[in-house]
Amino acid sequence: MGGQVSIPDGVHVVVVGGGFGGIAAAQKLKSQGVPFTLIDMREAFHHNLAGLRASVQPGFAQRTFIPFAKTFGSSFVQGRVENVDPERQAVILQGGRVRTADGWGRGFHLLVLLL
Ligand SMILES: Cc1cc2nc3c(=O)[nH]c(=O)nc-3n(C[C@H](O)[C@H](O)[C@H](O)COP(=O)(O)OP(=O)(O)OC[C@H]3O[C@@H](n4cnc5c(N)ncnc54)[C@H](O)[C@@H]3O)c2cc1C
Repeated sequence: MGGQVSIPDGVHVVVVGGGFGGIAAAQKLKSQGVPFTLIDMREAFHHNLAGLRASVQPGFAQRTFIPFAKTFGSSFVQGRVENVDPERQAVILQGGRVRTADGWGRGFHLLVLLL
């Protein structure tokens, strides 16, 4: 991941999906100081590196989970995305929660779907 991120000032990026792709994108945005929101329905990213060790060493399995909230703070929103409304620049979460002006200024400017 050596490339530079070139995003105009004032742009808020929303990344949906905190898998390998999503956390790589979110980590890059975080390190570049670009405002972003990462949305995932789970509360943690789970990788299976060292999975063999986790299966034999008591307590190690917990370390294969990386909690989103701890890693990305308030830039993380937990929820299942059910729809996207590009006109309103809104992401609609399960339960009818709509993320637009309330939390992201004028809504998202760039939406990255990594599901
Ligand atoms: C058993 C197994 C073993 C594998 N082994 C390897 C390997 O050894 N090497 C390798 O290169 N690849 C491997 N792969 C493939 C690799 O896991 C995938 O290529 C990779 O996970 C894809 O990453 P991603 O970020 O695109 O999606 P994912 O990792 O699938 O992440 C998607 C994320 O989006 C979230 N999400 C989905 N829908 C919604 C929604 N509606 N709202 C909110 N969040 C949502 C999910 O919770 C998830 O966190 C393996 C896959 C499996 C299943």
